[in-house]
Amino acid sequence: MSAASLSGPMPAVFLGHGSPMNAIEDNAWRRSWQALGQRLPRPRAILCISSHWETQGMYVGAAERPDTIHDFHGFPRALFNVRYPAPGSPELAHRIAELIPHPRVHLDTHRGLDHGAWGVLQPMYPDADIPVVQLSLSILQPGAWHYDIAKQLAPLRDEGVLVVGSGNIVHNLRLWKQAMADPYDWAQRFDEDIADRIAEGHHDGMLGYETLGPDALMSIPTPEHYLPLLYVLALQRAGEPVEFFNEHVSSSISMRSVLVGAD
Ligand code: ZN
Repeated sequence: MSAASLSGPMPAVFLGHGSPMNAIEDNAWRRSWQALGQRLPRPRAILCISSHWETQGMYVGAAERPDTIHDFHGFPRALFNVRYPAPGSPELAHRIAELIPHPRVHLDTHRGLDHGAWGVLQPMYPDADIPVVQLSLSILQPGAWHYDIAKQLAPLRDEGVLVVGSGNIVHNLRLWKQAMADPYDWAQRFDEDIADRIAEGHHDGMLGYETLGPDALMSIPTPEHYLPLLYVLALQRAGEPVEFFNEHVSSSISMRSVLVGAD
């Protein structure tokens, strides 16, 4: 891939995605994603690390034309009708495999885009004209491992690639109550604790999330929605600003999102 752009490195962003319905409902989350797409410099390609591609071992999507995967059930037909026909980028997939020499990153030429990816990218880039590649979460690995892997992706920011982590900092679906007006105390506390650590640049203490106490255990019953955050934080460079948006916890889900390295 080509050399660094003159305008500096691309920002990186973690998006709390919440319900799949946010992809088609006109609400504050979707509108924030639309605004973000207009605010950011136009990327040459997008690398998405989504909570909805868990694997053993590492895989990168290398399809020329990735399908739209509807990896949910019990939602209206309109959501299943969404297609996000962004092209893939086998070139970027190969570049990622090159940047992470060990463990080997396997190229998956059949994998499509899951709703953690297209659900946020469709509002951001409705024309679907920017190539999108997904990297899987090697789900049995600890937080520090993911953070170290993500650091190896740092050159992509200089190559015009927007890295998007898609998940939720607090995500406990078992305890989710739609009618609950206020968040659980533990959810609110954990969301704020993580925000403080991010604001202070104390990433180390966030990596072993399972040792952070009872609030963390309630907020991260399984790691897949939390881990994409670590990929974005690992790409923060010394002195780069970090910005929060969608700072909101409802019931047992936090929508807090994190923008790194933007003007
Ligand atoms: Zn999700």
